Amino acid sequence: MIHYTCDCCQQRIDAEIDLRYVVRMEVYAALDSAEEESDNDRDHLQEIQDILESLDDAQDGQIDEEVYRNVRFDLCSECRNRFIKNPLGRAISQQLDFSQN
Ligand SMILES: [Zn+2]
Repeated sequence: MIHYTCDCCQQRIDAEIDLRYVVRMEVYAALDSAEEESDNDRDHLQEIQDILESLDDAQDGQIDEEVYRNVRFDLCSECRNRFIKNPLGRAISQQLDFSQN
């Protein structure tokens, strides 16, 4: 049986009892020229792919992560709720700073 761990609080997620949430994030360099010319995301992504393919030939892969990063997290329901409220964690870190002082 596969056990998952919440990537946020490290709590184990029991698939039979708890709901597991998956967060998938894409972080990629914004290409201003591509945004001006295309009206939809498909063209934009194609643009990124072209860049990645050309980078693959010349670079060792380190640059790729700067241009495009795809990450995946498993979250428990508690952390999922927190994430939905503050996807970037801004308010959370402010609250932590406040309570610690
Ligand atoms: Zn959690």
